Amino acid sequence: MTLAPEAPRPGAGTAGPAISLRGLTKRYGAVTAVESLDLDVAEGEFFSMLGPSGSGKTTVLRLVAGFEEATEGTVLLGGQDVTAAPPYAREVNTVFQDYAIFPHLDVQANVEYGLRVKKVPRAERRRRAAEALETVRLDGYASRKPHELSGGQRQRVALARALVNRPRVLLLDEPLGALDLQLRREMQVELKQIQRDVGITFVFVTHDQEEALTMSDRIAVFNQGRIEQLATPHELYERPASAFVAGFVGTSNLLEGDVARTLVGESGPFVVRPEKVRLGEPAEGLEPGWCAGEGTVLEVVYLGATTHTVVRLDAGVRMTVADHNDETVAAPSGDPANGAAHARRDQRVRLSWRRDHLVPLAGTAHEEESR
Ligand code: ADP
Ligand code: MG
Repeated sequence: MTLAPEAPRPGAGTAGPAISLRGLTKRYGAVTAVESLDLDVAEGEFFSMLGPSGSGKTTVLRLVAGFEEATEGTVLLGGQDVTAAPPYAREVNTVFQDYAIFPHLDVQANVEYGLRVKKVPRAERRRRAAEALETVRLDGYASRKPHELSGGQRQRVALARALVNRPRVLLLDEPLGALDLQLRREMQVELKQIQRDVGITFVFVTHDQEEALTMSDRIAVFNQGRIEQLATPHELYERPASAFVAGFVGTSNLLEGDVARTLVGESGPFVVRPEKVRLGEPAEGLEPGWCAGEGTVLEVVYLGATTHTVVRLDAGVRMTVADHNDETVAAPSGDPANGAAHARRDQRVRLSWRRDHLVPLAGTAHEEESR
């Protein structure tokens, strides 16, 4: 058996994107899991695929890794057509949610496993395993057994096992899904640091929008086997292209039809993010360039750092307002800067937002199937 070629360092003269998908389609009988996908992932990029369950994310990863055969279309890795190549001939490694580490082997043996299979000499195996363990900040854990590790540490072993092969691309399918929230947040920051350190292209699958926003250079939002929007986290949040994206990434207020005509003067559809909306007393004056509507508070939801106030506007729509809880004491009644701190259920209020914070959406709204 020959050694798999090692991935070149990023920027070491490889032409073109790390991954190119062209017209990629996967059907299972009557189900189209992935539909005519075109996508380029750049070398060294942290790329995320975000979408609800069943939207085709895992299928795309499996097509890239070679675990599934495409119904139509092509997969290129580093400019080379690998559509017909078996998984072992592709310079990719996959990390799954259920870490797939061997319980009876210690950490060292787990990490070396792939290199043993490839008949890498012992001394080099040691050296590369030590390097991989250092990368995932597990130096000193080499002789531990998996049951002596926490969930986060086990996931790091799985990561080291993949990194030790020096793949050109690392595919990660909801790798943090089994961890509790606190640990997941820590690992999100660490994964991003590790990716920056090693410079390998990461393709990260998640259904968690916060996770995708935290880590990614770019995000593709999937809906029913298609990419609904491909953008940076900032663009995705500030300029969602559709009601589906606006609803899936963060909380948003959708204004369309008669409601939009009443509040905005145009039929929309528009979205406005909750933190862009101000909560005030009814019948305050309207500044130029602002929109406003009066309504009744339905619910006040305290979330620690922020408070969400849900208001039923007389125009016939519910809107959520997010306020930062930057005052420890509730603001005195009538202080519009800290409105949510004193808003109460059933109170009459007035919401206002800047016209330029309205994001116009293309096309018609999908139903909110994701929330
Ligand atoms: P996600 O990872 O976004 O949750 P998947 O890629 O797993 O979505 O699935 C996409 C669609 O393809 C779903 O409708 C799923 O039921 C279907 N699907 C996935 N794998 C198979 C399979 N082996 N056989 C039949 N249908 C499948
Ligand atoms: Mg999946």
